Amino acid sequence: SVVIVGSLNMDMVSHSTRLPAPGETLVGHDFVMAPGGKGGNQAVAAARLGASVAFVSRVGTRQHGKALLQALRDEGIDTSGSTVDAAALPGIAVIMVASVGGENSIVYVPGSNAELSPADVQASRALLHAAKVVVAQLEVPMPAIAEAFALARAAGVTTVLNAAPALAVSDELLALSDWLVVNETEAEQMSGEPDPLAAAQALLKRGPKQVLVTLGAQGALLVTNEGSQTVAAAAVKAVDTVGAGDTFVGGLATGLAEGMSAIAAVRLGQSAAAIAVSRSGVQSAMPRRADLA
Ligand code: ADP
Repeated sequence: SVVIVGSLNMDMVSHSTRLPAPGETLVGHDFVMAPGGKGGNQAVAAARLGASVAFVSRVGTRQHGKALLQALRDEGIDTSGSTVDAAALPGIAVIMVASVGGENSIVYVPGSNAELSPADVQASRALLHAAKVVVAQLEVPMPAIAEAFALARAAGVTTVLNAAPALAVSDELLALSDWLVVNETEAEQMSGEPDPLAAAQALLKRGPKQVLVTLGAQGALLVTNEGSQTVAAAAVKAVDTVGAGDTFVGGLATGLAEGMSAIAAVRLGQSAAAIAVSRSGVQSAMPRRADLA
């Protein structure tokens, strides 16, 4: 199985022709509320591709937390490893999008995502030990991720760190990561190297067994101690690339959990992401296994 240790958010998105000025009330023309958060997105991506997925998180149920957990369950995801906190808010992103020009303004309230603790993770140790692959992103506190990866390592479980958003990561956490997955921007911010290959090589020296840099329409670059390899992306008409990276990571984890080679798992992630970018929406755009050619 795939265990995702990560964030869960409710995205609340209004659409108006332009963004309001401070103090101004504007009349908008559309509103969408949809589950998001990198953790939740990656869990849904993996579940749609056929992985057996468990989600480890801390979810406040003061506002939309119950709906967020239910949305995961509706995808067949095991939420028994998520700690429910009735006194806390879940993660909420209030997003205003201007339909002319596409500019946006976002207020992100991390809520309970910021409270996920090593003790919460410890409580899910049975799930972690039974997993094939454990995946984390940086929208939850790093001590909780380090705890999860240490438990996974002790049981011989493959660990995948998606270092997004770009934050400073300790060498200790990188050394606990079998895979480090970053996009070009994150690779540069973490390493100071603008060139993706140089960035990946510098990051590899800090401890992960392999570094994967996603390159958008250019595909992905896999760097290990044995060398580097570029995997081209499928040529598709991109409609909405938001969530491409999350779909990729979910697909990569699914492939690794199935025992695929590194390259085959990267290809599965890329095939899934190529379909996701050809559709609008984030979770709603993620393909099922049968949709893949
Ligand atoms: P992020 O969403 O983190 O910025 P990328 O833009 O690098 O990540 O995209 C992640 C993956 O999604 C890529 O490695 C690629 O496989 C796929 N992808 C992204 N954009 C496209 C595109 N325009 N055409 C085909 N595949 C794409």
